Amino acid sequence: MTAALLRRHVPERTPYVKIETKQPTMKGPSQTFTGDVWFDVVVPERDYPRMRVNVVRFAPGARTAWHCHPGGQTLYVTEGRGLVQSRGGQIIEIRPGDVIYTPPGEWHWHGAAPNDFMTHVAMWEVDELGNSAIWGEHATDDEYLGQAQPVMQEEN
Ligand code: MN
Repeated sequence: MTAALLRRHVPERTPYVKIETKQPTMKGPSQTFTGDVWFDVVVPERDYPRMRVNVVRFAPGARTAWHCHPGGQTLYVTEGRGLVQSRGGQIIEIRPGDVIYTPPGEWHWHGAAPNDFMTHVAMWEVDELGNSAIWGEHATDDEYLGQAQPVMQEEN
């Protein structure tokens, strides 16, 4: 089929593809991060009411504070080597291609390994009040290095 014939079958519509104006890269605040962490917003609030996507770059040793997400979170590691830990769980090494799912309300931290950068795409939904995360204390050096005392389990 020739190009002219193909064109005849395309319904009338206005084509729409657009390169978005990138927002400035933002530094992760020291209240909720340890070390140098930088964000690029991929999906801002205006595109979808609930969906959020950021690319997050962690310098070696940098990590989030302890936190949980009311709507859960999926991470996709694109570069480097990182660490993630759920409250009371083992520290897990994460690598490019790994997909890490954290269910709603699960307390955790994530960041770079001590001697490597790590970049991940973070995907989540905000709750009905627009909250992305509930933040707790910083992940201490002892916790980050796996030298902290195990968290006491709640007694039933
Ligand atoms: Mn998280």
